[in-house]
Amino acid sequence: MLKIKYTIYILLFLFIVNFANAFSVRYALHDGFFRVVFQTDKEVAWKEKPYPRDKILVITIEDVNKDEVKNLKETLEKALKDYVSKIGVITRGKTLKIVIKFKNNAPGYKIFSLKSPYRIVLDIVISPVGEDKEKDIYISPDLSKRKNIDIIGKIIKERSNIHNRKVVKRKSVKSVKIAKRKFYKHRLKTIRKRNRKIIVVLDPGHGGKDPGATANGLKEKDITLKIAKRIKTYLERDGRFKVYLTRNSDKFVPLYKRSLFAIKRNADIFISIHCNALPSNRSFTGTYVYTLNLRGAKSKMAKIVESRENKIVMRYIKVSGNSYVNRIVADLAVSSTMVEGRKFAKHLKKHLRRITRFRKIDSANFAVLKTPGIPSVLIETLFITSPRDANRLKSWKFRDKFSYSVYRAIVDYFF
Ligand SMILES: [Zn+2]
Repeated sequence: MLKIKYTIYILLFLFIVNFANAFSVRYALHDGFFRVVFQTDKEVAWKEKPYPRDKILVITIEDVNKDEVKNLKETLEKALKDYVSKIGVITRGKTLKIVIKFKNNAPGYKIFSLKSPYRIVLDIVISPVGEDKEKDIYISPDLSKRKNIDIIGKIIKERSNIHNRKVVKRKSVKSVKIAKRKFYKHRLKTIRKRNRKIIVVLDPGHGGKDPGATANGLKEKDITLKIAKRIKTYLERDGRFKVYLTRNSDKFVPLYKRSLFAIKRNADIFISIHCNALPSNRSFTGTYVYTLNLRGAKSKMAKIVESRENKIVMRYIKVSGNSYVNRIVADLAVSSTMVEGRKFAKHLKKHLRRITRFRKIDSANFAVLKTPGIPSVLIETLFITSPRDANRLKSWKFRDKFSYSVYRAIVDYFF
């Protein structure tokens, strides 16, 4: 009898020890705030980093075992869904990062630790903050100017949900990628089955007050519009495509509106057309095709092009202003855009290399290519700064050949 009693005590002891080492989460709604408690039971190093402009808080907690936070993302998402629009959980070694993007109804937060047992307490303020607001509660800035970004965010979320449903039982990154590719193929099949037209959105770069690059008597905004219109003509003659241009005349359209346009039109493909510029080397010629890469440009040329093409609306793309948010966005549907974009880029290369000096397919972080679920590329047709290339861009015959090649690449990609 005594032996059994001891065994029970030992088992109980082991259970408590095991439990005491675990990282656990509790939460409850209080009057005016929602409290989340991360219990670690041993003192750990942690820090907070708020990004008030984006209403984002990043909590870093050290010395956490990966296994203990397996379901943390799901738990937090469920608990905080009324006050938080996005949650990211990132583990690297024994470091845990929790990224929280607050909704507008959560005007602030407070975070502190308590001892024995050791707890990190996060209070999310959910009622209007009074006059006696505490020092470490921040008031969110006016977000009304960011409305358009929020629409994109919403659509990203909706689309990613479709993807997630498809890949729910798959685990490795590779199989998720394959599943996404399958998802896209499925989409192409339904296009054919329903016999609907393929929706192509062409985006003539720049326009209006933004001329783009100018050299050799040419303005980038004029060339891009002419080429886009010519591609449209070929596609419409074909009969299998419905074509939209993000602008039909010489007017200014901000970058985020261009990608939003493609999303709203439910585009099957998005092609942004530009001219390259390298004032420091006017003999440099050739064609580049770019696909989206959320981590930023790879090559030196890609870096130059990236900063030039993103310049006009830098203030609109704050969403990717910090790397944590980038990682969350990357988690979402954008990966299929990148995979399919590269596939389409290869078709472009095949056709364009016959008529131009095709330099390479590269990737960079373009604001205009953030079109989740839609294969998207940016074509830098030729160098407007090179007299040789400029002469070709001036020629109706060359622009016609170039446009025809893009049309052929689109056909090859879809059929
Ligand atoms: Zn451009």
